[in-house]
Amino acid sequence: MKRIPVLEVFGPTVQGEGMVIGRKTMFVRTAGCDYSCSWCDSAFTWDGSAKGDIRMLTAYEVMEQLMQIGGNTFDHVTISGGNPALLPQLGTLIEELHERDISVALETQGSRWQDWFWLIDDLTLSPKPPSSGMKTDWAVLDDIVAKLEKRAVSFCLKTVVFDDEDLEYATYVHLRYPKVPFYVQAGNGQLQETEPQRMLPYLVERYEWLIDRVMPNPELNRVHVLPQLHTWVWGNKKGV
Ligand code: SF4
Repeated sequence: MKRIPVLEVFGPTVQGEGMVIGRKTMFVRTAGCDYSCSWCDSAFTWDGSAKGDIRMLTAYEVMEQLMQIGGNTFDHVTISGGNPALLPQLGTLIEELHERDISVALETQGSRWQDWFWLIDDLTLSPKPPSSGMKTDWAVLDDIVAKLEKRAVSFCLKTVVFDDEDLEYATYVHLRYPKVPFYVQAGNGQLQETEPQRMLPYLVERYEWLIDRVMPNPELNRVHVLPQLHTWVWGNKKGV
């Protein structure tokens, strides 16, 4: 059985982003990403700085870790990265979790398809806006969205927004896939700040900025406007 490169297992905590924001969940963070976003808040998953912390685990061993840390205090697991969609072997873990009546959420930028996307309970596709420095492959994203819609998977699109150009991109994403629930989220440009209390005024200001931009825009009448909730409580702290 192919092993999974795991960097972190933690929780339970609250999901700070996307369609299940606020949901009590455990996290499994996988290593590796095919992008290198300029503002990535988990660059340690792909920049080599945490290479020594990667553990190659079987799906069963990940399950064991989750149980050891979370005990009976969770029924939901979020698989995060990096880009977990690089890992075809994740299907086994998702099946193991479902066998125990545990729901699974996953976030990916939508650059790769995996057949196990069909099994995910809460799937977030998060294409990256211009400020990331990355380019969206629209043909790949079109294909992923079409495959998910065909099988009525519960999924959403989410775009992080730092500036007006990003919001223009987000609007384009929403208009390209108008039937898919859409979330815009205020970006965090203070990744070096270690003191959560010092960050909060900045995060509130960025959230207000985004609200002010979205409210008068008739093309964004059906969107959800979110902060990155966990940063309001824990700032940039890892593993919470
Ligand atoms: Fe970081 Fe996500 Fe961008 Fe990968 S896709 S570089 S994990 S923000």
